[in-house]
Amino acid sequence: MGADTMTRPAVLILLGPPGAGKGTQARMLQDRFGLVQLSTGDLLRAAVATGTEAGRAAQSVMAAGGLVSDEIVLAILKDRLAEPDTAKGVILDGFPRTNVQAQALDALLAQSGQQINAAISLEVDDAEMVARVAGRYTCGTCGEGYHDSYKVPAIADTCDKCGGTDMKRRADDNAATVGQRLGAYHAQTAPLIAYYEEQGTLQRIDAMGEIGQIAEGLSAIVQRAVA
Ligand code: AMP
Repeated sequence: MGADTMTRPAVLILLGPPGAGKGTQARMLQDRFGLVQLSTGDLLRAAVATGTEAGRAAQSVMAAGGLVSDEIVLAILKDRLAEPDTAKGVILDGFPRTNVQAQALDALLAQSGQQINAAISLEVDDAEMVARVAGRYTCGTCGEGYHDSYKVPAIADTCDKCGGTDMKRRADDNAATVGQRLGAYHAQTAPLIAYYEEQGTLQRIDAMGEIGQIAEGLSAIVQRAVA
C-alpha cells in the first residue's frame, strides 16, 4: 500500500537491541511502503558532525555507549517530525528508548489526533549482536548498510545501490561500546516492550534469520498495521 492511500500518516516503531537490524529493515520498509525512516541515531550523528550544541553534548555519551538525554533527543525528534516529508508516515528507528520518550511520543501524536500503528520488537539473542555490530558498515554516499559476513557488496567496497566507494564504520561499533549499548538497551529500552504490549500495539518478530526473510515477515506486519 502506498502512503497516498492511507487515511492517516502511519507511525511505526522498530524496537530492538543494537545489531537487531532496525536500520536495514527500516530502509526496506521506507522503500516498500513510501514511509520515512527516522533514526534518532542518524540525527544525533549528524548533529555531532556539524558541531551543533546538541551534538557537542551528545558526542561523549554516544562514544561511551550510553543514552543521550531525553531532552536533547526529544528536541531533535520534534524538529524532524515538523518537516513536511514525515506527513507520509514514519518508521521510528531507535526511538523511543526510554519510558519518558515513549510517553512524550504518545502525547505528541495525540496533539495531532495520531496514534502508533504498531511497535515491532525485533527479537534476537544478545550473543549474536556483538558479532553483527562489529562487522557492519554503510555506504557514506547513500547510507545502504553492509556486513563483513551477512551482506557483502557484489564488488568489494562498492555500494550495490549507488556505486559509491566511501564505506564507513561507526566509531561506537566496537566490542566494548557494544557491550555498554546492550546494557543500556536491557535496562532502559526493553521495558518498553511491556509498555506497548499493554497499549495493544506490540508485534514481535524473530529477527535472527536471513535479512530477506525477516523483511517479508515485517512487511506482512506493516501491511496489516497500516491497512
Ligand atoms: P543508534 O544509531 O540507534 O544505534 O544510536 C547510536 C547512539 O545514539 C546510541 O548508542 C545513543 O547514544 C544515541 N541515541 C540514539 N537514539 C537515542 C534515543 N532515542 N535516546 C537516547 N540516546 C539515543
